[in-house]
Amino acid sequence: MQRPLGNSTASRDIAHYLHPYTNLKKHEVEGPLVVTGGKGIYIRDEAGKEYIEGMAGLWCTSLGFSEERLVEAAIGALRRLPYYHSFGHKTTDIGVDLAEKLLSIAPVPMSKVFFANSGSEANDSVVKLVWYYNNALERPAKKKILARTKGYHGVTVAAASLTGLPANHRDFDLPIANIMHVDCPHHYRFAEEGESEEAFATRLAENLEKRILAEGPETVAAFIAEPIMGAGGVLLPPKGYFDKIQPILKKYDILFIADEVICGFGRTGNMWGSQTMGMKPDILVCAKALSSAYLPISAVMISEPIYQALVRQSEKIGVFAHGFTYSGHPVASAVALETLKIYEERDIVGHVREIAPRMQKLIRSFADRPLVGECRGTGLIGAIELVADRKTRAPFDPKLGVGAYLAARAQEHGVILRAMGDSIGFCPPLIIGPDQLDEMFRRFDKALSDTESWLAGQGLAKVA
Ligand code: PLP
Repeated sequence: MQRPLGNSTASRDIAHYLHPYTNLKKHEVEGPLVVTGGKGIYIRDEAGKEYIEGMAGLWCTSLGFSEERLVEAAIGALRRLPYYHSFGHKTTDIGVDLAEKLLSIAPVPMSKVFFANSGSEANDSVVKLVWYYNNALERPAKKKILARTKGYHGVTVAAASLTGLPANHRDFDLPIANIMHVDCPHHYRFAEEGESEEAFATRLAENLEKRILAEGPETVAAFIAEPIMGAGGVLLPPKGYFDKIQPILKKYDILFIADEVICGFGRTGNMWGSQTMGMKPDILVCAKALSSAYLPISAVMISEPIYQALVRQSEKIGVFAHGFTYSGHPVASAVALETLKIYEERDIVGHVREIAPRMQKLIRSFADRPLVGECRGTGLIGAIELVADRKTRAPFDPKLGVGAYLAARAQEHGVILRAMGDSIGFCPPLIIGPDQLDEMFRRFDKALSDTESWLAGQGLAKVA
């Protein structure tokens, strides 16, 4: 559909802007949705149409789009000290406050916090920290990092290598050496016929141990996991998965990295996804809801033994030569501190716990619809996976773009959702209320009905 663009924002966008995660050819024809405002859980486009932001942007605007206290925190910090760095034995008071606060709420005892600006930068930093750590321990061969197929850890060179999605590797010449992928823990897709969740988890843990032994435990440095895999399609691990995985990592002295970039700060009904999933990481990465996404900031928490190794190595070399111009930026730190304060004052985790059963029930209310394969989720995150055949679980031909079609119809009906293949994600701002949740799923329902009719019109699906 070609839109008349004139000298609009959309036409200037097409002329000047290289978009992330976009089909660039399609974009030249269709142009962007130009978003000009936001309030609460809603965004507004340039024509004044309002949408429920059912994905909290990119899983991040936890407090919605008009939290005045965060605006004030940013303005106050800009007036007081718009920038300073933390290189060469300098710091800002606000950065120290934020590090202290994060350590006080960590799900397991952590020793130090390193700041970056995005989830990708944080995960790239983690790869370097793990390598530096093993060099400090004089284990130069222990460098391999295991990640999982369908995991998402970002797009910078090392982080994209950790990511286990083909489009992030293809033609980018990735993954780099020493990063490899193990089983995706999605029971619906990868369990064998009749295999229970528990048995599936056991098999995956056994596979992991076999892989570690095949690689040589002296070469395997770390294992990284999201508590719930987000961009891979909102995939929850099977029961017992992390209980079975963690002793194996311990046995072979392999660091456990929790990527809490989506799950951190209440999303799963606990402050951390690690608490929901029983994970005890040595390294924890967070971003997104750390500042409700109002300013870019991410953090890496590390355990005391890791810190001690870094200290020894930097003493030997003369410097710990890693860090960003904006590490611990005072304005982003101030916004993050205010965000954490709001979470506590308004008991955001309590609110998520209260409202999550409603969202999970709504998701599962679509289970009997003709295109729906699996309804899944916990807390305020979930997905509905569409399939060509409910019995065999056969997926649609990706060329049909069924998920993308549904997401486009949802947008027409006033709700922004994300299609990850044919899985439709739900991850609204944490402040969403019960009536708003109901409305979000009413709009989704219309989009699903449209999709059913569209496929039935092509003879590709039965409408019950
Ligand atoms: N890790 C996870 C689990 C994520 O979901 C994301 C982004 O969605 C990232 C890392 C990368 O974060 P960023 O896009 O801020 O680089």
